[in-house]
Amino acid sequence: MHESVNSRRSLPSVSKLLQALGPLYFPRPLVVDTIRRELAARRKAEEARGLEEIVLAIRASLDRHRHTRLRPVINGTGIILHTNFGRAPLAPEVAQSVAALAASYGNVEFDIATGARGSRASYLEHNLALLCGAEAATVVNNCAAALILVVKHFAGSGREVIISRGELVQIGGGFRIGEMLKAAGATLREVGATNRTSLQDYESAIGPESALILTVHRSNFYMEGFVESTSLTDLARLARKRHIPLLADLGSGALDSCAELSDEPEPTPADALKKGADLVCFSGDKLFGGPQAGLIAGRRRFIATLKREPLFRALRCDKLCLAALQATIDLHLAGSSNEIPALALLRIPKDELRGRAAAMFARLRGLPAHISVGRGTGKVGGGTLPRATIPSVTLDIVPELCSLEQFAASLRAGDPPVIGYIGGNSFKLDLRTIFPKQDEAVVDAIRTACSRIGTTNSGT
Ligand SMILES: *Cc1c(COP(=O)(O)O)cnc(C)c1O
Repeated sequence: MHESVNSRRSLPSVSKLLQALGPLYFPRPLVVDTIRRELAARRKAEEARGLEEIVLAIRASLDRHRHTRLRPVINGTGIILHTNFGRAPLAPEVAQSVAALAASYGNVEFDIATGARGSRASYLEHNLALLCGAEAATVVNNCAAALILVVKHFAGSGREVIISRGELVQIGGGFRIGEMLKAAGATLREVGATNRTSLQDYESAIGPESALILTVHRSNFYMEGFVESTSLTDLARLARKRHIPLLADLGSGALDSCAELSDEPEPTPADALKKGADLVCFSGDKLFGGPQAGLIAGRRRFIATLKREPLFRALRCDKLCLAALQATIDLHLAGSSNEIPALALLRIPKDELRGRAAAMFARLRGLPAHISVGRGTGKVGGGTLPRATIPSVTLDIVPELCSLEQFAASLRAGDPPVIGYIGGNSFKLDLRTIFPKQDEAVVDAIRTACSRIGTTNSGT
């Protein structure tokens, strides 16, 4: 008891600590809150120690917090649609149109021609439908939301959604299609076996409770061996005959089949609709290369009734997302998909990467590290094209004064953080996902990391 009173007394005051910390990047209430927490923890542990040690602990805590703030990072992983890095980076032109609308009022729900209230996103919906060869189209927050909306609309009252057992996929972040369908109020009617589902399986499952047939693209895994699935064309014919709507969840939103990247071509929205799907949904930020969004295209009357669902209002996109999506759609329509970074990065020739690596290598001489140009394999990522690997070029670094993990941490701690990976016995940065305009910053970051580690080690 006596002890704890003593140690409480020996803790510095908040104002003393504020003074000792000096000017900081953080808003003052955050600093004060961090100081209070640190003091409270020490009071509880009956642990006092000197001012300097407490200041260090507060700085470390603030630093950890700073690293959680959203900011740009340099992606040296070679994974183009890295979900942890926000998937598709937007085209500069797209980012500009977001910025212009962000700081201004806009005709979000205003008809400039009549001066009356207008419908949200009508330009975008029109152009998206054209791009998909669809009667109509609309957009919600992400593909998961699109799926939930469609399922809720057709089968939300406990009616059945027919789906193959081979397509009950788990998408990223631990979410499973099956669980999402149940959350939308539907009853799952699983058909077939994991590896084989025939048209007959679907046909015999159809009954009075059937409300929707759903096919889900196996976007993040592949099956091989004794496998059979029903063609979309056959399934669409069956759906039409039995008057049951057919939804194809395409996931990645590739507008071309990416046949040069994988033996398993991506289904495109236009192709799925042509084959007879009534509706398709896909992500905006995978191979479509735009912002996070869930795009829905297909029959006019279905799109119209989906937009009248009360749930639609809860899933609608904000003006920033709509601005980014509208600009991305226009780039696709104009045939300028090479201006969409996610797609452009996929196609950079290896020689070009090698040339950049050589130039960077030349500027990294004399550092306390063994550096070489290596071979890498890029991945599309974001749960798309699991089979595709893209030959790539890496900078391989083996620092002399610290471990690979310490070196990686040091690059992450820089500004901007540079993220690579450890492979074999070196730290690697894959050039495919590093924009050419970032090469300079990467060279600087490597130099800084090497010298920082050099001084820390010699200083202690
Ligand atoms: C990625 C994916 C989803 C989820 O898309 P989000 O836009 O991340 O919500 C749904 N279905 C399939 C098949 C997918 O590949």
